[in-house]
Amino acid sequence: MTGERLGSFGPGATAVTGIAELVTNDPAAGEGPLGLVRDAALVVDGGQVVWVGPTARCPAADTAIAVDGAAVLPGFVDSHAHLVFAGDRAAEFAARMAGEPYAAGGIQDTVARTRAAADDVLRANLGRLAAELRRSGTTTFEVKSGYGLTVADEERSLRLAREVTPETTFLGAHVVAPEYADDPAGYVDLVTGPMLAACAPHARWVDVFCDRGAFDADQARAVLAAGAARGLMPRVHANQLQHGDGIRVAVEAGAASADHCTFTTEADLELLSGSRTVATLLPGAEFSTRAPYPDGRRMLDAGVTVALATDCNPGSSYTTSMPFCIAVAVREMGLTPAEAVWAATAGGAAALRRDDVGRLAVGARADVVVLDAPSHVHLSYRPGVDLVARVLEAG
Ligand SMILES: [Zn+2]
Repeated sequence: MTGERLGSFGPGATAVTGIAELVTNDPAAGEGPLGLVRDAALVVDGGQVVWVGPTARCPAADTAIAVDGAAVLPGFVDSHAHLVFAGDRAAEFAARMAGEPYAAGGIQDTVARTRAAADDVLRANLGRLAAELRRSGTTTFEVKSGYGLTVADEERSLRLAREVTPETTFLGAHVVAPEYADDPAGYVDLVTGPMLAACAPHARWVDVFCDRGAFDADQARAVLAAGAARGLMPRVHANQLQHGDGIRVAVEAGAASADHCTFTTEADLELLSGSRTVATLLPGAEFSTRAPYPDGRRMLDAGVTVALATDCNPGSSYTTSMPFCIAVAVREMGLTPAEAVWAATAGGAAALRRDDVGRLAVGARADVVVLDAPSHVHLSYRPGVDLVARVLEAG
């Protein structure tokens, strides 16, 4: 809806005017799927967008921010990040770039360092990464556990994650804990029993890495079902390393998202397009493991809803930059610049089943990114350049 106001503005209302191109993600408000409005303004009040329309008709507000010539878009929604960990794996990355293959086993290195770290060390690292996310325009982000793999360490990871985001995900089923290397069934019992019981109060989602070297389809179903019984909504790490059952498991469980989707069949795409499950593509992972990119073009043409996320983690994708992911998705996955921006905002919101973020329409959260560029296209046209000039966050 444009040119209409939601009630009257309070004393704290702020008008953002002179927007060269406003991305609303509201097709009713403007042109194309991004709902582009030219020469636009918006007014925010009480943490919400209360007016969207042409600058010429912008009502007066207490504070005015003139962004003449800039593009404005909703804050990015990063629906997949692993931010509770200690240490890094720069040496592993360098070795991989020198020719060694990626294997899920590297996760155990981070597990050992995370378990050994004090709360304040983990909290400081989490805060640093959250600040990086915000600086690059991300205003909503998910955080997973998965580097603790004991009852106490997973519970601690989620408790700390809750300090920075409401979008917390229990990923005890990331890999089998080292203590259970010879007893994966025993580890699944731990994850679905006492570990879940300790973690559920701090989590909104349950996730499982359903892939080679991690958990098979039956184990994944058991983890998701146990989580659902505790009120956690499912999401799945699916088909990153090979063709497999991950996407089928995700769709059958009614998951909000199947993440990675690097190796997909026609049957997988049919399952996704016939469901509410979003395919969340993680360009940083293929970039950083020198793996083949998923065919995002084919997914979109098949009617699949696509999101982009960073997968920020110290092993396979150590980036917090959604603009980087947008640029890679356009260059390597066949998305248009507009599709990539949609996937990084509205797509991420869909992957978190949120309708208050990822768009700038009346009633949405006032999470606003101002670019130092006249169009959203510049996010992929000018890769590696920090174009985020300003971030306004609701509240
Ligand atoms: Zn992940």
